[in-house]
Parts: sequence; C-alpha cells; structure tokens
Amino acid sequence: VQAAFRSDLARLLELIGTGKESLSFMKKRIRHLAQQWLLAARRLEQKLKAQQRDQKHILIHIGFLTEESGDVFSPRVLKGGPLGEMVQWADILAALFLLGHSLRVTVSLKELQSHLGVPPGRGNCPLTNPLPFDLIYTDYHGLQQMKQHMGLSFKKYRCRVRVIDTFGTEPAYNHEEYATLRGYRTNWGYWNLQPTQFMTMFPHTPDNSFMGFVSEELNKTEKQFIKSNKVSSMAVVYGKEASIWKVGGKEKFLTILNKYMEIHGTVYYETQRPPEVPAFVKNHGLLPQHEFQQLLRKAKLFIGFGFPYEGPAPLEAIANGCVFLQARFNPPHSSLNHEFFRGKPTSREVSSQHPYAEDFIGKPHVWTVDYNNSEEFEAAIKTIMRTQVDPYLPYEYTCEGMLERIHAYIQHQDFCTTSSPPLPPKAKSPAMQSPSSPLALSPNATHLVWSPSASRDPHAWPPVDSLQVWVSETRHACTETCRRHGLVCEPTFFRFLNKKEVFLQLSITCDSTEYEMNHLYPAVAENVHECYLQKEPLLFSCAGYNTKYRRLCPCRDYRKGQVALCRDCL
Ligand code: UDP
Repeated sequence: VQAAFRSDLARLLELIGTGKESLSFMKKRIRHLAQQWLLAARRLEQKLKAQQRDQKHILIHIGFLTEESGDVFSPRVLKGGPLGEMVQWADILAALFLLGHSLRVTVSLKELQSHLGVPPGRGNCPLTNPLPFDLIYTDYHGLQQMKQHMGLSFKKYRCRVRVIDTFGTEPAYNHEEYATLRGYRTNWGYWNLQPTQFMTMFPHTPDNSFMGFVSEELNKTEKQFIKSNKVSSMAVVYGKEASIWKVGGKEKFLTILNKYMEIHGTVYYETQRPPEVPAFVKNHGLLPQHEFQQLLRKAKLFIGFGFPYEGPAPLEAIANGCVFLQARFNPPHSSLNHEFFRGKPTSREVSSQHPYAEDFIGKPHVWTVDYNNSEEFEAAIKTIMRTQVDPYLPYEYTCEGMLERIHAYIQHQDFCTTSSPPLPPKAKSPAMQSPSSPLALSPNATHLVWSPSASRDPHAWPPVDSLQVWVSETRHACTETCRRHGLVCEPTFFRFLNKKEVFLQLSITCDSTEYEMNHLYPAVAENVHECYLQKEPLLFSCAGYNTKYRRLCPCRDYRKGQVALCRDCL
C-alpha cells in the first residue's frame, strides 16, 4: 500500500488515548500546531511529487510514560517538570501520521504486549506470530520492556527499532563487549544497536540520527507585529522549576540584569512565591505552552542560568524574536564532571547550556558569555537592548523540515538487510581489498574527495558523492574535524575509508597496519608510523579522540538548515 499524506489530525488525537496529564499536554500541542502541520504536509507533498512511498505499520511505544517504568513525568506536567520529551513525542506522532503511515500508540506494558502478540501470561518467550510492525519508535525504557517480553524475538526484530534518546548514545558505550572491557560504564548503553538507530533531540552527535521537534513558525505579518511590539527592557528567565534559581553566584549577574531590565519568570508555585525567586522578579507561574509563547513575543531577552540543558524553549524564544543569552561552560560539562550527565552513554563535552543555539544559530540571536566576567555580561546586555533582531527558526525545526527528515529516514534507513562488506577480510594481507571496491578517492592536496569516475552504488544512503575524507588533528574528534571544514561527520561512510590504500592515498606512511577493535580507528599514530583499521563496524564513531592518534574522518556536505541531509539526500 502506498502512503498518502493525511489532511486531518483528528484520528491521531483519538489514537493517543486519555488518562494522563502528559497525553493531554501532547494532544493540546498537536491541536495548537495543526494548521501549521497540515500546511507543511501539503508543501512536502508537492516537493516530493509522485515519489513512491510505502505505507509502514508503525508501533509507537512511549516507555517513560508507562506505569511499569514509574511514569514520574506525567504527574509533574502541571508542576514545572520537564516537558521537552513530550514536546518531541507529540511532534513525532504528528509527523509519522501526516506522512500517511499506519500507527499504533502505547503507553502501558499491557498494550505493548497485546500489540506485539505476546501470549497473555507468558513473558520472555519468542513471539508466536511474525511481528506486525515494520518500525517501532520507543525509548530506553521501552527497549528494556520489549527485550523482557519478546524473548528471542527481540534479537531478530531489533533492527526495526528506533530509540528516541535526547542526549545521544556514542558507539563506544553502545557496543557491549567493548564498553565492558574499556570501562565505558553507564546506566543506558550496551544495546549493540546500529548507532544511527538512536535518534536525538538536537544534531549534536552525528553517530546518531537527528530526530528533533518543531517550533511555531511566524508569517510575515506576525513577524512585523512582533518586532514593533517588543519591549526592549523585558527579560524572561529560562526554567520552570524553582531549583534553577539556586545556581551559585547568580546574585551578581541578576543584580546587573535588574539594573537594565524588568525580569520575568515562569516558575511553578503552589500557593506562594517560591523563596528561591527574588522579589524583584515578576513571576507568572507555569504557563500553558501558548501563553508562554505570547510572553516570549513581548520579551527582548530570554536568559538561561545554566540549567535545563538543551531543551526546546530557547528555540521558541528565538523564533519569537528574543535574543537568547546563556553562560559559557568553562570547563565544559560532561558525564565526567557533572551529575546530570553522569551515567549517560556519551562523553560529549557541553560547552554551554544550549550548544545547538551557540554553534548553529549564534549572534545576533544567541550570546554565549562568561557570567563570571561582570563586564562581559553587562556589555552583552547593553548591546542586546540596542540591537534589532528578527524572529528566526532554522528550517530543520519547522514542521516541513521535520517531515522532510523523517520521510528521508523512513525511505532510506534500513538496518535489517545487511549489505555492507564484512570486515575485516581474512586474507593473508590484512588490508587487502576486493577489486570491486565501490569507492575511488582522489587526493586533493590535504584530503580526499569522491572521484566521480568510480562506479556508484545506487543504494548507498547518503549517496557517497557527498563524502570527503579529512585527517583529524590529534586533539580533535571527527565531529570537530568535519565541523571545522564546514561539513558534518557521516558515520555510514567509515566503511569506505577503512582500507589500507586510503592511508596510501593520503600519503600517510604506515610501517605496520593492523585491524583492532577501537572506536577511534581508522587512525594513524603518526610519530611511530603505525596505522590501524577498525575490526568492528559497530564501533565506527565520529566521537572521541586521543592525543596519540590522527583519525581518518568521513565528512559530508549538508543542506543549509537541514544538517541531517546531504545535498543529494532526498
Ligand atoms: N513551557 C511551558 N510553560 C512555561 C515554560 C515553558 O509550557 O511556562 C514549555 C515550552 O514551550 C517548551 C517546553 O516547556 O516547549 C519545554 O521546555 P524546556 O526547554 O524548559 O525543556 P524541558 O527542560 O522542560 O525538557
């Protein structure tokens, strides 16, 4: 059956069900954004013309909302608890539905079992019938539940799973044996999935797929209206929970800010003003999402105190014409030095409260400054108050951008058919290559680019034409190396560089070449002329560096405002 774009969201709202505050929040959000979603679906439909699209049967199992995993989020929806995950799930549901797929949504273990076809009263047995879903979107909680209740069938079907994973999972933590051997200990890793099966909230870990969410878009008239109604002395503080006001040292910069601006907050409270919030702050209490947006439309500045990390609100603020001011983290926060990230399967170093805003948006919309430096902070406030800024929303966070991206993933990401060449070859010469190697790279002074004369694998996605190979500095991961060349690291291309002759083409001298299991390989230890290739494809990783090695990095181009897709990726 062909998938047909839908032109109405009513049936989706029914599918989502009732009985939890989190579900009500998600439905309210979908209703509020409906017009925008429908318009975006029509635009994408026109763009794709008559492209063939199969209708997929999709199970969406939101594990963190199940009672069995504790569901700590639903009771906090109206009390200032985190909403980012619900924002994202609401948007994923809307996108999958509008693309015309057939959906089942579950938020309890019982429904999950019945949809999977687990016989009642029998957990942990292989399924008696074939799995009735082509794809399953879930999270780490849901993954655990599926493993427990599908028995041996879990291994068979795990290639159909997509894991929504806000902060990302790096390959070194995903590979069970390697993580155990090397001490990459976490509460979440060890699943041996393809790293691109994990889908993140922001495009911060190119080893994973970028899923994202959407923010409200403004038309020309609305933008004009907002610009003329901005109150240049109005600031809104980022954060719904009183605890964020406890950050040490904030009195100093709050006093400075208060000299210039009226400070507003949306901090949840029961009956009285929370004691953490100073008296000079005008606190509105937690607002419904659309009222929060209205507040942002008037405000000039949205200011972060350092927590929460990487949420949707700064994008909404920027989309509504605010400037986002945030603290630079020096040293950066990571799972090594910060409680919040401890136990998360990533070694990513977070350089500010919202690295996406810092790196992908930047000035004039985003200011990342050292809050301990009063002069720098004060100067930023003064400049921001004087600067006119247009509302801005990157394409990848528009409804059309999200639909386009999910469409591309569903069309092209296939983790069930194994097509890539097995590694390493068992021949005498460890790096010997089959003569029908699909890739020919030509040296271009310092790096390698795809040579168009080589035969092209029509099924490879992203298409290999977008590949450029760069050699990293010793202190840079491939993520950083590609970024510095205006490109993005593309882990699916590692298999093309994991060859002895690539070192040769790059004029790298190898006295020895060995295959080993190491998430930094392929790489060269330059001073000793030792070259290393990757023995375990699951460990190909954009993340990670070690001062001993220069890494071979597969980089690709990307569409402006849609970093998940290369130029020829649609
Ligand atoms: N939000 C809201 N009311 C408020 C403040 C924020 O509904 O008073 C919404 C906001 O629109 C955003 C969501 O809360 O979409 C989550 O934002 P945040 O960046 O704070 O992420 P979280 O930490 O909640 O995951």
